[in-house]
Amino acid sequence: MAYYVTTPIYYVNAQPHLGHAYTTIAADILARHMRQRGEEVFFLTGTDEHGEPVTVAAEREGITPRELGDRNAVRFRDMAEKVGATNDFFIRTSDPEHMAAVQKVLQKVYDNGYVYKGQYEGWYCPRCADFKTEQEILEGNRCPIHEIELIWEQEENYFFKLSAFQERLEQLYADRPEWVRPQNRYNEALSFIKQGLIDVSLTRATLRWGVEVPWDPSHVFYVWFDALLNYYTALSYARPGEDLTDRFWPAVHLIGKDILKFHATYWPALLMAADIEVPKGEYVHGYLLMNDQKMSKSLGNVIDPFEVIDVFGADALRFYLFREVAFGQDGSVSTEGFEQRYTSELANELGNLANRTHSMVSKYRDGVVPQADPPAELTSEFDGLAEDVCAAMDRTEISSALEAIWKRVRALNRFVQEQEPWKLAKDESAAGQLDQVLYGLAEGLRVTGVLLLSILPEKADRLLVALGAEERSIECAHFGAASGGATLGELEQLFPRVEREPA
Ligand SMILES: [Zn+2]
Repeated sequence: MAYYVTTPIYYVNAQPHLGHAYTTIAADILARHMRQRGEEVFFLTGTDEHGEPVTVAAEREGITPRELGDRNAVRFRDMAEKVGATNDFFIRTSDPEHMAAVQKVLQKVYDNGYVYKGQYEGWYCPRCADFKTEQEILEGNRCPIHEIELIWEQEENYFFKLSAFQERLEQLYADRPEWVRPQNRYNEALSFIKQGLIDVSLTRATLRWGVEVPWDPSHVFYVWFDALLNYYTALSYARPGEDLTDRFWPAVHLIGKDILKFHATYWPALLMAADIEVPKGEYVHGYLLMNDQKMSKSLGNVIDPFEVIDVFGADALRFYLFREVAFGQDGSVSTEGFEQRYTSELANELGNLANRTHSMVSKYRDGVVPQADPPAELTSEFDGLAEDVCAAMDRTEISSALEAIWKRVRALNRFVQEQEPWKLAKDESAAGQLDQVLYGLAEGLRVTGVLLLSILPEKADRLLVALGAEERSIECAHFGAASGGATLGELEQLFPRVEREPA
């Protein structure tokens, strides 16, 4: 089966921050997990480079919008690499292939009769690049997201007949109750639709930095439509000489809740208007909060994921974000919280367990995992784990998947405490029991290692190499699937203690 997962494309006038890293890591975890299941995966991320905010930021710096895009797109590309993302393509909406494909799709929308010319006026936020409805705006005509004063804009535009899709969207939501997840976001999107959809501007006449409207070159497309289409256009040119659309479309989208309205209403309507299948699903995550505030560039409370990765490695950040905050909800993150989980969970619960197991198998069994019957308590402990992890990942509940795995890491720690293999080693008549205990520990670690590969790609792989385990597919993530006899590899400390320089 094909699995196509996307992050939002990141607005190029921002600096990459933890919020961007968060979504990218989430998509990467899903992509890696699905590859382990033998699915054919395509993973897309990239940058959104058009529109007024980019023009304004470029002007402020005295450079062209293109130069700003070239410079900042690199930062987002680097961020993806730095967090360990295995994206198959990095799209930039300034790619000529994307721009041509946008024109083609929107020409189709026009030809299908869903576009008309009209006069637009309303409250506009230049930072959002969006008009706000009366219900949305804050007191004093301020943006509900940026809290800045809105501008009353008036211009002649082409409109997209969003209102024509009222029934079809309501039907989509009725037919597919899991189309937007989690449930509270589904409800929010549906209630927005049920308030009654009004037609929206498809083009801007006052702006030049964008995709030219083919039937009227004095306009460019409104940046949101150009940006949303990236998910679809990328497949047509990501592989030179090959069109991947039929193979991978429709996509699973990961988005933040601030862009729900666009993705849950405009986007499916636009696709319907162009006779294109709507996405497979949209998963909406919450905000990472610092001191209970949204982390965002405009609020100036950004913390740098690059710094954390330089000190602790990408795996530790990947682990922390999905361990600390239930994916889908808002949650607080902090440096203290990070260091605490690094020490107590990664270094102690997993790292020490791996070390102890590795050194006992080395010392007592010459570095070969004994062949023995699986201990019954571990067999039942691990029963159904891989299936639970897969089911959670299918629902994009990454944190639940991780919780299920970690429960077993803790069970292995209890097992080693209870069995005290170092005592069994002193008693020759207990050799068979020691074999069982060591096999159980090595096998349990192997299974958790395979399941952790999508979250801790580097460290889990090192663990598996140390255990002499070769298989990486989910199929082999069952307790007892390996029968012992593997020769251990080298194991260096997986999560070394980090001495930080005092700030
Ligand atoms: Zn705004």
